[in-house]
Amino acid sequence: MGKRGWEAEKIARVRGRLLAWYERCRRDLPWRRSLNPYAIWVSEIMLQQTRVAVVVERYQAFMALFPTLLSLALATEQEVLAAWSGLGYYRRARMLHKTAQFVADHDQGNLPRTAEELRLLPGIGAYTAAAVASIAYGEPVAVVDGNVERVLCRMEGWKAGSRAGGGNAVRRKIEELAARLVDPLRPGDFNQALMELGATLCVPRNPQCLVCPLAADCKTQGEHDTAPRPRMQSREVAHALSVRSGLLSGQAHREVLLEQRPASLTVMPGLWELPSLRESAVPDEALRMTVRHAIMQVNFYVRIRTVFEDDVEALTVPGGDRRWVPLQDAAGMALTGLARKVLSRAHLLVAAPLDAMTPQDEEEL
Ligand code: SF4
Repeated sequence: MGKRGWEAEKIARVRGRLLAWYERCRRDLPWRRSLNPYAIWVSEIMLQQTRVAVVVERYQAFMALFPTLLSLALATEQEVLAAWSGLGYYRRARMLHKTAQFVADHDQGNLPRTAEELRLLPGIGAYTAAAVASIAYGEPVAVVDGNVERVLCRMEGWKAGSRAGGGNAVRRKIEELAARLVDPLRPGDFNQALMELGATLCVPRNPQCLVCPLAADCKTQGEHDTAPRPRMQSREVAHALSVRSGLLSGQAHREVLLEQRPASLTVMPGLWELPSLRESAVPDEALRMTVRHAIMQVNFYVRIRTVFEDDVEALTVPGGDRRWVPLQDAAGMALTGLARKVLSRAHLLVAAPLDAMTPQDEEEL
């Protein structure tokens, strides 16, 4: 990036206007009420691939269960996955858990104070390290997420290229500009303000330039040229919804059949899902519902059929461990996003149904 165009006066003006706007307009989010590095770390990991509204709902419950890094380190993986259920991308929960155990073993449970040291931890990348270091410890390092990238591209009139089409060079220019812009006196607030601007005003479609505090210094003032998105593929799959009823201590009692994905799988190991139907068991007339569920670049069209207990063996594909789970317990288990969505839509989740995510947000690995 050439330095021309970003003289000290303009940098000071942009910082001042952005921070003043942030003080007036920032959303009151639970993780913003704390400078605890562990709390900030958890929120940043949750926010990387899940919408803010869903994170708000899950964050407080997660922090109530694991209020400190040591409490997270001491939990079992199933407890952590269950608390993560509904947020998607379960690999993040496993890495968070493993990193907490590493810090508990090596640093008495204290996270390092600089971005450079944080990056040395397994499972913490450049973005998370900069976010924790700047917000919790006041280190003047820039945080560059998708929102910051979009704001700076628009301010400079840059085209956001794909990696193949020169995207890496644009990314380097964005990082250099972000590093110059970050306010050394209030780096945490500045970083959050730039991300907030991208999340609320400088949004991908129909940005609110008329009320943007940076409009006078923005070369685009509108939507910018972006690389075309990869095309989504479609696949069809089918699962069994099997529920049995009975009486337990005189109370009506219902259980759903769930299957645990083997630990050896690379995708969503250890999570609980609905058993898969045999191909011969998917006639249209027995259909209970069809659900669209996006994972990465694939739209899964999932057909769900009701299966009676006596027919389970004949109609489903033998898979991982199976268990009849009381409905009141299912919501607290580490369910796949798809299983949670189906049980929620069938009104079978007794507590805290989380059906608030869009299919695009429910990418799971
Ligand atoms: S003026 Fe518009 S395009 Fe430029 S930073 Fe503000 S919202 Fe984004």
